[in-house]
Amino acid sequence: MNIFKGQNLLEFTGRFKTDLDCKEYLSELKDISDYKCTKCSHTAYQRKADFSRQCNICNHRESATAGTLFHKVKFGLRKAFLICFEMSTTTKSLSASYMGVRLGITEKSARYFMHKVREAMQ
Ligand SMILES: [Zn+2]
Repeated sequence: MNIFKGQNLLEFTGRFKTDLDCKEYLSELKDISDYKCTKCSHTAYQRKADFSRQCNICNHRESATAGTLFHKVKFGLRKAFLICFEMSTTTKSLSASYMGVRLGITEKSARYFMHKVREAMQ
């Protein structure tokens, strides 16, 4: 996940002020590849206010996080983004307990998500 590389913390926090900002970013990333409805394979959609994509034929709605490692993250996208940011910009290894304390989430949640990020980075 090198999308966060090369940004400084102030730029990062300035860009992602809300979870909706994070969804917008994810939807931009998704637009790089072609859309195909997972239900009916149609290739045209409408974007909704929450940056989900709705198929023009069957109305199937796909959230901005669907198909990404941010899907169903319980502690919110901003915290998840920040974990990715820290993991891709810091040179020392980060511990889950440290990230948990820094972000006000449980160590277990931090560890689980960081594991997913590491898998995605490989
Ligand atoms: Zn469809």
